[in-house]
Amino acid sequence: MTELRTLKVALLGCGNVGAQVARILIDDAGTLAPRTGARLELAGIAVRNLDAERDVDLPRDLFTTDGETLVKEADLVIELMGGIEPARSLILSAIQNGASVVTGNKALLAADGPALYEEADKAGVELSYEAAVAGAIPILRPIRDSLSGDRITRVLGIVNGTTNFILDQMDSTGAQFADALAEAQRLGYAEADPTADVEGHDAAAKAAILASLSFHTRFDLENVYCEGITRVSAADIAAAKEAGFVIKLLAIAEKITATGTETAGNEGVSVRVHPTLLPREHPLAAVRGAFNAVFVEAENAGELMFYGQGAGGTPTASAVLGDLVSAARRIVLGGPGRIESTTGHVPALPIDAATTSYYIGLDVADQPGVLAKIAQLFAEHGVSIEIMRQTIHRDADSNVESAELRIVTHRASEAALAATVEAVKALDVINSVTSVLRVEGA
Ligand code: NAP
Repeated sequence: MTELRTLKVALLGCGNVGAQVARILIDDAGTLAPRTGARLELAGIAVRNLDAERDVDLPRDLFTTDGETLVKEADLVIELMGGIEPARSLILSAIQNGASVVTGNKALLAADGPALYEEADKAGVELSYEAAVAGAIPILRPIRDSLSGDRITRVLGIVNGTTNFILDQMDSTGAQFADALAEAQRLGYAEADPTADVEGHDAAAKAAILASLSFHTRFDLENVYCEGITRVSAADIAAAKEAGFVIKLLAIAEKITATGTETAGNEGVSVRVHPTLLPREHPLAAVRGAFNAVFVEAENAGELMFYGQGAGGTPTASAVLGDLVSAARRIVLGGPGRIESTTGHVPALPIDAATTSYYIGLDVADQPGVLAKIAQLFAEHGVSIEIMRQTIHRDADSNVESAELRIVTHRASEAALAATVEAVKALDVINSVTSVLRVEGA
């Protein structure tokens, strides 16, 4: 039997994910070698604090604070430190030294991905990042490889477990946003500073990556419209439920023909993150708790759904190891690194170019003729109403009656909807516009 060659692996970071990657590399070395065609030797682990307690018992002599030297001696580098620097410089250094790199760092990829991909292309090495979107779920490789002979038309993703947990809590218990967030923090699903999750920034970084691979064009964070879940109220959730919908924070990338005034008629891609009403029978509506799922629509394949754990040390380590074995096989077999396809050249379109259906909640005076007035105003703005429901409330103290109107529209442009809402607000019979939410999958 011929002796397998040894590939040196440098690990940058030994936190939630890094520690599990180190464990698997050591414990499963015997099964990984024949699958890879090479022995994967963990050459060292770069950390900040050599004395920190680790989740996994690992040999002390593997640890170093000198990431730069470690990277220069490696055939393969796994970056799991997070943040922009020194992760970015160490990845660049690895690439320039001819090492292939695996990372889970969506924040870095969204901020500076194109420059890193270009460096990897130039050096003929791989830069893989399956773990950066939806943790354990194999979604980037299917989009890039399995669907490379098809045309993707739309991707809808629940790619942030924290916000899905919060919205699911609100939906199942009737809790307000603040209480559901506190519960998520108590259970360890949300960080002490939850901004990146609840404001949609984490999902936006992943939307940019999904859009880039799906439409063969490099998109970055600036191309993503982003709206978080902090303004979703218990009343919105209850009203959505009554109308047969569930509210999810979706990352959406879709090919559209623009309807906005500036861009009308242009073909492009709309990349956006916002709270979205989904019919309760839509496959993504069944994604509960902190789970993730990505729903892909392609011209020939039709509808596909990818579901699983979007975070956690061990599940995310699975995605990292998959990338590592694949990059190592390429080193063993020879050939250039995997070049990302960027032949699409489709422009990113602004949010007002998108069309979608809307859910609108209105608090209105309970008077005859109100419904007709509102319906006429929608028609004047070219927004057609699909469902209109009215509920009457009586204030116990004042005995004054008011009505709550819930409207679901047919597909309309953002611009037409914005104009309609402004006009509705100005009507004397409107007390307030209680919510405006986008609807998908209806
Ligand atoms: P983490 O628990 O915070 O661990 C970070 C590790 O990097 C620590 O070991 C830390 O060293 C080390 N580190 C940080 N800054 C360093 C520096 N300047 N020099 C040397 N070492 C440094 O992070 P994580 O949760 O494992 O996440 C790692 C990456 O995976 C991030 O990019 C994250 O976005 C991504 N990711 C994570 C998950 C998840 O479920 N956690 C899921 C998908 C993707 P010390 O231990 O010495 O402080």
